[in-house]
Amino acid sequence: MEFLRPATWSEALGAKAELPGALPLQGGTDVMVEINFDERRPEALLDLTRIRELAEWDMTDGRLRVGAAVPYTRLITELGASLPGLAQASRTVGSPQIRNRGTVGGNLGAASPAGDGHPPLLAAGAVIEAESAARGVRMIPVAEFFTGVKRNALAPDELIRAFWTAPASGPQYFAKIGTRNAMVIAVCSFAIALHPAERRVGTGLGSAAPTPRRAPAAEEFISRELDWDGRGPLRESTARRFGELVAGAASPIDDVRGTGDYRRHALSVMARRTLTWAWNDHTTALTGKEAS
Ligand SMILES: Cc1cc2nc3c(=O)[nH]c(=O)nc-3n(C[C@H](O)[C@H](O)[C@H](O)COP(=O)(O)OP(=O)(O)OC[C@H]3O[C@@H](n4cnc5c(N)ncnc54)[C@H](O)[C@@H]3O)c2cc1C
Repeated sequence: MEFLRPATWSEALGAKAELPGALPLQGGTDVMVEINFDERRPEALLDLTRIRELAEWDMTDGRLRVGAAVPYTRLITELGASLPGLAQASRTVGSPQIRNRGTVGGNLGAASPAGDGHPPLLAAGAVIEAESAARGVRMIPVAEFFTGVKRNALAPDELIRAFWTAPASGPQYFAKIGTRNAMVIAVCSFAIALHPAERRVGTGLGSAAPTPRRAPAAEEFISRELDWDGRGPLRESTARRFGELVAGAASPIDDVRGTGDYRRHALSVMARRTLTWAWNDHTTALTGKEAS
């Protein structure tokens, strides 16, 4: 197996163009497990860890551009206030060691239906920046990025450079059900993001279908139902209906971690709870602003 170690992004794109079968390696927390268990034997490994700019983030025109190699630990400490939903999800990933090495770029590359980074990116409406030497940059909305179980929209010569998203303009939450409290693959997960300026709610479902996905009918319903100008509490019947619509967007399987029925039920509960927390935060923030 060849081991390629480009020092720059353009060298990495050149190497991927020359050898599309080369498997990118970032934190290695998915790749090395697959190689150790002999599930994968790529013709070459393309080590991206020397490319400094991949591990940087910045703000351009009011949007965050987060390099594919920023590890979960830094997402939590440096971007927790701007991306609270993703930071909450990051805290649930593996163990401290995995969070120090693992990246959202790698999570997207692996494209597991259970990847914890995906639901918050879907709820926030993130966009993936992919690039190839031949065609340059391609911006892919995250909702179009996942194409099947562990499959994504990247062409063989493309690499993920970064993801783009606006900093949170309203409350965001992530909830995950596991078979224990830590070091666990999600039985199912759910993310919500309120976008008050657009009077819109975003959602993301994990481990609930062949790919991570949004719940568009639930989003339309709740965006219309919420009293964005008012301060009133959320009606229980509204929250319940939202939960039902979220569960209806799922097409989960029965497997060792849980049944499809259980996943649907858990999703409806998580959706109802996270919506209630988010709405409470939103109305509290409005009341606080008025008082000051
Ligand atoms: C013990 C353990 C616990 C875990 N717990 C969780 C968990 O709770 N939640 C969770 O979501 N995941 C979990 N994982 C899986 C893994 O940690 C995550 O998916 C992580 O985000 C992978 O990031 P990485 O940088 O290590 O990726 P890598 O292993 O380096 O790569 C993963 C995939 O992405 C591709 N890739 C990497 N970088 C790029 C790029 N720039 N462009 C294109 N493709 C790229 C690789 O080729 C590979 O296919 C766990 C793994 C282990 C070993």
